[in-house]
Amino acid sequence: MGKLSDYKKKKDFLVCVDSDGCAMDTMDIKHIRCFGPCMVKEWRLEEWKEEILTRWNEINLYTMTRGINRFKALSMILKEISEKYISIEDLDILTEWVENSKELSNDALQKAIDERESICLKKALSWSKAVNSSINKLPEEEKLPFEGVKEALAYAHKTADVAIVSSANLDAVMEEWERFGLIPYTDIVLAQDSGSKAFCIGELLKAGYEKNHVIMCGDAPGDLDAAKKNGVFYYPILVKKEKESWEEFMEEGFSHLKDGTYKGEYQEKKIGEFLKNLGG
Ligand SMILES: [Mg+2]
Repeated sequence: MGKLSDYKKKKDFLVCVDSDGCAMDTMDIKHIRCFGPCMVKEWRLEEWKEEILTRWNEINLYTMTRGINRFKALSMILKEISEKYISIEDLDILTEWVENSKELSNDALQKAIDERESICLKKALSWSKAVNSSINKLPEEEKLPFEGVKEALAYAHKTADVAIVSSANLDAVMEEWERFGLIPYTDIVLAQDSGSKAFCIGELLKAGYEKNHVIMCGDAPGDLDAAKKNGVFYYPILVKKEKESWEEFMEEGFSHLKDGTYKGEYQEKKIGEFLKNLGG
């Protein structure tokens, strides 16, 4: 699998595919079993557990904030919890960090803690680490590709180059795609370490594709933005309708790309369905 800097186009079309929640059915399980429950435990919110978990899943999976950074989601929901159920100690300091930090990661949070004593920052880091370890313990057999992904990618790969464009960890993406035999239908794997999705698509375009020959398949508003920033098409994999979305891509979406009829009516219809599905 080559690097972005020496990537060469082999075909005239390019299909970019996000991994988590688009090709891989991994978003629901991570949020439902790891992110939400770890938060309830860290802040001892058992009394309001059901309502809080439902709200966590709405924010991270089923509305326009789908795919949001974990710390942004945390600060958002803790604010709601503080207003509705119980005061969250030191929340202002976390909110301020989320709004102002250049990087929102465990490392960046550790640096903030080193500079400033704060119970809420410490709890946020402890939660984030607990989430990672709980995700690592999820059984492999429960992290599967969506139905129809392999068929759709194999079909597209006959006439298009296929690039994985993901913001997840490279090793995790490679491991999952290899385990399910999807790597043979891809030409390059771009993950967290390659840069933002918008940047990656921009770099791929430099290989010489026409913009109206390039499509981004994604499941979150960030994927749509990355496509728009580069002036390429967007194909949504709709949450809770993933199998149908991949079937339609194979039966209809990809043909529109190839015969030059993606632009206009079909593209607008697909974006409309995507926004409506997330209540946007
Ligand atoms: Mg995704």
